[in-house]
Amino acid sequence: MADRKPLISGNWKMNCNHFEAIQLVQKLSYGLTKDDIEAVDVSIHPPFTDLRSVQTVLEADKIPIALGAQNCHWEAKGAFTGEISPTMLQKLSVSYVICGHSERRQHFGETNEDVNRKVKAILKHEMTPIMAVGETLEQREAGEMEDHIVTQVLEGLVGVKKATVGELVVAYEPIWAIGTGATATPDDAQEVCALIRSTIGEKFGADAAGSIRIQYGGSVKPGTAPELMAQADIDGALIGGASLVPEDFAHCIQYRLR
Ligand code: PEP
Repeated sequence: MADRKPLISGNWKMNCNHFEAIQLVQKLSYGLTKDDIEAVDVSIHPPFTDLRSVQTVLEADKIPIALGAQNCHWEAKGAFTGEISPTMLQKLSVSYVICGHSERRQHFGETNEDVNRKVKAILKHEMTPIMAVGETLEQREAGEMEDHIVTQVLEGLVGVKKATVGELVVAYEPIWAIGTGATATPDDAQEVCALIRSTIGEKFGADAAGSIRIQYGGSVKPGTAPELMAQADIDGALIGGASLVPEDFAHCIQYRLR
């Protein structure tokens, strides 16, 4: 079994102008020790308009937090008004890009095919995709959860080389738990993360399954992070609301101490 370093990611969604973003990242850095950052990879995903400011602060203050984006287009450039390309993100030293977040799927009609194009474009530009998957409450109650998750995983990874799959991150985010305060129980989250890992194993082999990092996301808070992170197939967390509160996000990153 590969040694998977946990990755805790803060998805700021459509919050914080660039002045607020600078304050948030500085406050977060004050709350973290060198040990915290050595034990856990941390990424923050501000809105596009904040990326340059946050990049400058991270570099100037030598803060070892990775810069992430919340989305990108799959083309490198062209007539796609309002879109941001992976080339532009790479130039800003972005390391991780979330793709297929349920809010993008739900409000902007992103399909598994779109997500797959994004995954491949992000990899091509030497960044790491955080590919989000998750079921609605209706799908869970109708017993369709497994099929839905397996389809999202496999269709999102079409054409990705076996040797590359292990470098990716998949975020399991049950839609009913995002921003609602309802967290999946650690057992439920573990069950689906194990399903994702075995799906990867069957399609891409044991090395890919052993290396790929799987995050849980959905109302993670300092109080729930330790038990979720203790699960065998959970290698990190994708955190929305709590990542906007520097003390809470720092405490989630410090789950080992709680
Ligand atoms: C998210 O934005 O991916 C998320 C999980 O949000 P929250 O932690 O607020 O549920």
